[in-house]
Amino acid sequence: MAQFGRRAVRKAGFARPSVFGFRPAILPFAPFRPLVNGPFAIDVQGITKRFGGRPVVHHIALQVRRGEIYGFLGPNGSGKTTFLRILCGLLTPDAGSGTCLGFDLRTQTGAIRERVGYLTQRFSFYEDLSVEENLDFVARLYGVPRRRAAVAQSLERFGLAELRRQLAGELSGGWKQRLALAACLIHQPELLLLDEPTVGVDPKARRDFWEEIHRLAGAGITVLITTHYMDEAERCHRLAYLAYGQLLIHGRLPEILRAAGLTTWEVSGPDLWALAETLRGQPGVEQVVPFGNRLHVSGRDAVQLARVAAAFGSPDRVWRQVEAGLEDVFIHLMHTARAHGTS
Ligand code: ADP
Repeated sequence: MAQFGRRAVRKAGFARPSVFGFRPAILPFAPFRPLVNGPFAIDVQGITKRFGGRPVVHHIALQVRRGEIYGFLGPNGSGKTTFLRILCGLLTPDAGSGTCLGFDLRTQTGAIRERVGYLTQRFSFYEDLSVEENLDFVARLYGVPRRRAAVAQSLERFGLAELRRQLAGELSGGWKQRLALAACLIHQPELLLLDEPTVGVDPKARRDFWEEIHRLAGAGITVLITTHYMDEAERCHRLAYLAYGQLLIHGRLPEILRAAGLTTWEVSGPDLWALAETLRGQPGVEQVVPFGNRLHVSGRDAVQLARVAAAFGSPDRVWRQVEAGLEDVFIHLMHTARAHGTS
């Protein structure tokens, strides 16, 4: 464990937290007390990042309230991870400004990093270290006071105590994810940035995970989480949808559904695949998406869609208008963004 000294800490790019960087509460999960005032954990405007001249995050403005669970959705490559990395001070934006936890995004990145827990997309812990050693390592990186007690409490809290000596590489997906969450909470962050945390995690572990996230939010911790799962999106307080680096829509679930202005019809019956092909060329039909043994047919022109439903009705085919779901809306947004050449 000699490599876990100050040099390793510096090499890993982490600022050693100042004594005042941590609340001297009983670690690790005492009630949250903000160090800075203000309603927003994240308050940024015009955030832009280019790679090789290509903007991958384009003029994003976002406000996230303290204690809120904010879902970030969008296709792969839409800039979600890049934006998270800017928020936690790992990347500097090319344009834009703002604060994270009350600290300036450009000039106070050290203070931000001390207060943020970042769970990366890939499991980024040492597979050849035990569960306990990994937690201990992260606690050292952050200079957690009363480290041993903090690690012991973290093991208990996340149900990892019995697995403490198991190598991290031998854990199943759900346990790895639990370890990762324990590790990114060990320094009592005020903001959690979670990048697709539930990929490869079974439904029971996913449910436990979301209970934990809501418990943390209830204690005042802000959570920004990226996901591709619609059921997870619906568990967030607010949502934002990104495509081609642009924030296309954000708000509460009902607001998003309303703002999209989408009318959706559901059709069931025989030969749905052939019907889908035919419907795709019809006026007013902007998307046709199979949902099990039904199709969702959506567009913004309610009158034209009603005509299509009438024209393609038959005794063995049932059409009914339904509420557009989040998935309908997001697929629609993605297609629209692509058609308008947003990039
Ligand atoms: P998402 O998280 O939504 O999948 P990312 O933020 O990872 O999207 O990536 C957005 C785009 O930026 C992608 O095209 C990706 O290839 C590119 N990108 C990300 N990081 C870098 C980097 N360090 N250098 C060059 N291109 C990058």
